Parts: sequence; structure tokens; C-alpha cells
Amino acid sequence: MKRSIRRAAFLLVPGVSCSRAYIQKIKDEGYTDLSPYLVPNQDAYTGQGFSWEQVCEVAEWATEFGLGLKLFTGYMKYREEFLREHPERRMVCLRVTGGSGPPVERNWRCPFQPENKADYVALLSKVVQLPPLREIHLNDEASIGFPDGSIGCYCDYCVSEFERKFGAPPPRKADWGSEVWWQWIQHRMEGWTEVHAYFRSEVKKQRPDVAVGIQLNASTVAAFAHNPWLVGIDLAHDAQAQDVLATNAYHHTQYPRWTYRPIRRILTEAVRTTGGAAVQRSMNIYPSAFFIPQTCLELNHQDGFFAGTVPFALGAETATFLSHEMMELLPPGFIDGFQQARALDPYFERTRPYSYATVVNPSQTEIYGYPERSWGREALTHWADVMYHVGLPWRWLFDRRLSDAADGLAGPVILPEAHCLKEEQRAILKEYVESGGGCSGWVARRLRTGRGVGRVRRLLERLLRLRS
Ligand SMILES: [Zn+2]
Repeated sequence: MKRSIRRAAFLLVPGVSCSRAYIQKIKDEGYTDLSPYLVPNQDAYTGQGFSWEQVCEVAEWATEFGLGLKLFTGYMKYREEFLREHPERRMVCLRVTGGSGPPVERNWRCPFQPENKADYVALLSKVVQLPPLREIHLNDEASIGFPDGSIGCYCDYCVSEFERKFGAPPPRKADWGSEVWWQWIQHRMEGWTEVHAYFRSEVKKQRPDVAVGIQLNASTVAAFAHNPWLVGIDLAHDAQAQDVLATNAYHHTQYPRWTYRPIRRILTEAVRTTGGAAVQRSMNIYPSAFFIPQTCLELNHQDGFFAGTVPFALGAETATFLSHEMMELLPPGFIDGFQQARALDPYFERTRPYSYATVVNPSQTEIYGYPERSWGREALTHWADVMYHVGLPWRWLFDRRLSDAADGLAGPVILPEAHCLKEEQRAILKEYVESGGGCSGWVARRLRTGRGVGRVRRLLERLLRLRS
């Protein structure tokens, strides 16, 4: 059960951190890795992002100081200048629910066009030449659907590909009774997983030792704010196709998308939800100390200690604080707390998170049973709230990981309205229960969560014989 705990310094502002002296300081502070943010075009206005040449310099210093390199890259994002010259390479979105409007060309690249893929592979083929490279994060914070009900991609290439495969153009409006609409939904989600799996395979050809993963926006994939078909991201399938899942739980700035309170719980639940997909995979969590003066108290020692421990306490292998340069601006107490958390690393390395119970995350139910609702927010977030109130150690396990990661089950299994389980998944659960498996009760299919925390709490107490 041993794991390697790593702490990476995210490097965002080369004007501050691109020097040998700064990297030596990071080494002296006890970090294990550097995580520079590689951009093709440096933003002269914000000064953010490292050029290729600067990343090469950082890699040399990493080698000199015995640090690893965990490289952070964008794919769809950060190519605005290029897209002004090549608008045909953009992702095109249409509002398919909640209204209508003309197609919108976003300032993100289409992830599926062969030219865009080739361009990114060319970048990755340079990146893999860096000797200290340990990990690559693909396609920062991207998705193919948005909260306003618009989805992509309807560019000429994507439309013609769908038509070639299914004999009809992709529907331009949601129609849950239409077979071709469901084909479109599944085609998008499968395409998303496939394109990142392709990038991983290209890296592995040259550097099988390098871990590859996607960096996802936690408020997009772990907040239960959107039905997964909308954003087009199937977290469990992505976990199966990658070595690492990375996510950025910036709890003090992302809070409008989350229901969990106090706001610190956003980091906790983002890691826990991501971990429910990333069974047998590595997790790299980007905590931050962004805060908005009007909405939160000044960050203190406890906040720093919390940001430095929660990712590991819930199963992450790496925490990458965003960003190292910004630490200079934070209250000293926060930094002290974050650094003191390092004392727990030897203990984290010897264990994995304990869970008394497992709640199966029924993503299939959400996508296929309640596609017109944000059902996860209505029915699933209560479970996290109740577990918090009764103080129960627990975990999620995505239904789609049952077939290949059933060792993610621990203790009694709760299936909140998971009525879209496949035969194979049901058989695995049945076997788990019949073999004992620490299961004190089969509490499954007929359970209905209702909408209230109180109701979920009473159910939990009855089913697990708990009293808070
Ligand atoms: Zn496209």
C-alpha cells in the first residue's frame, strides 16, 4: 500500500521564478518536483507562462538539483492568437438545451481535428526529450460543453465525421427520444476519452516511464453541477485511459459552483470525488490560496495546513500548489501551515485512506436516467453532507469502475438510485456482498435518496446503524 508522496512547485510567472537561484530555493524548501506552465505564446500582459526555451532551462536546473519535472500544458486553450489567424480550427458550440442561438466559435481549439492533434503531438514530442520529466498534464481545464447549455463540437470536420459514421448530421437540439441524439452524446464522450488516450500513447512510445494524465477543472467534473453528458467528460473512462487524473480545487474562488459549506470542504469533496474515478491511478491535486476579500476571512495557519494535508489524506500522490510565486503574497501563517504539513508525509506514504463505507457514484443513472436534470446535485451531494455531519470516513466509487477496480469497494456499499447498472456490474457487487467483503448490509437498489439531507441522514443511520 506504499505510495510516493510528492510536492510540486507550480511555476507560473517566469519573470519571478525562471532563475537558478529561485529553483535552488524551491529545492531547499523540500519540494520534490517542478511544474512549469508551458505556453506556446507568452502572454506579455500577464507575464504568465513559460516559453519552450524557459522550460528547457528549468529542466536543466531540475536535473542539477535532483528534482522531477511535472509539465503542465494546454491543448484546446491558450491558442487565441493562432485562432485569430485560423478560425477554422476553433471549436464550434451550439446551445442544445435551455434556449437557442447561432453557433458560437469559441476561442478554444477543436480537440478532434487532425491538424490540431498533430500540432499538440509535435509539442509533446519535444517535451518527452526533457530528461527529468516524470509526468505530463494534458489539456488544462478543457471540456466540450458549458453551463449555458451549449456543446461542441459542430465544426465542419466534426459534423462530417459524425455524418460519415452514423449517416446523419449531429442533431442541433436535445431530443431524448431520438436514437441519433444519443449516438451524438456517446460519440462526443467516447471521442473525448479517445483523443487523450491517443496523446498518452504517443508519449509512451518515446517515454514509457512518464505518467500522463488530464488536468480537469474540479468545478466542471467533481462538483455535480452539470450532467456529465453536457461537458462531455466521462471521468471514469478517462481514469481507465490515463495514468493520472489531475484537478484544481480552488475552493475560495470556485465556490459558486459548489454546494458544500464551509468553503474549505470544496477541496475535500473535489479530491474525494476525483478519487472515486481514479482508483488504481495516481491523483495530482492543485490546491490554491485564491481568496476573495468580500467573501472569506483572511487565510491562516489552519488553511495552509489543510491545503497541505487534505489531498494526501484522501489518496493523492502529488499536491501542486498554484502557484509557488504567489506564496510570497500570502499571509505568513498560511505558508507555515502548508510547510508544516510536510511532517505527515512519512505517515501518508505508508498508507491509503481508510473508508468505513462506499457510495457508488451512479454516473450511468445520471446520464441515461436523468439526462434533463442536474441530478447529481439534487440527489448525490447530500451524501457528502451527511457523511460530514456524522463524521464517517467514506469514499465514492464510480459505477463505471466496478468492472475493473472493484478493490475500490470498502465496507457497506450504498447505491443511491443506481438503476442503470450493467449485468457485469451487478454481478461484481453481488459477489462482493456474498464474499463478506466487510459488508454489513446490502442496502442497494431500492434505496431512494429523496431530496433532503435529513432524509438521507435517517436512511444512513438506519442502514449502517449509525448514531451521530
Ligand atoms: Zn470540431
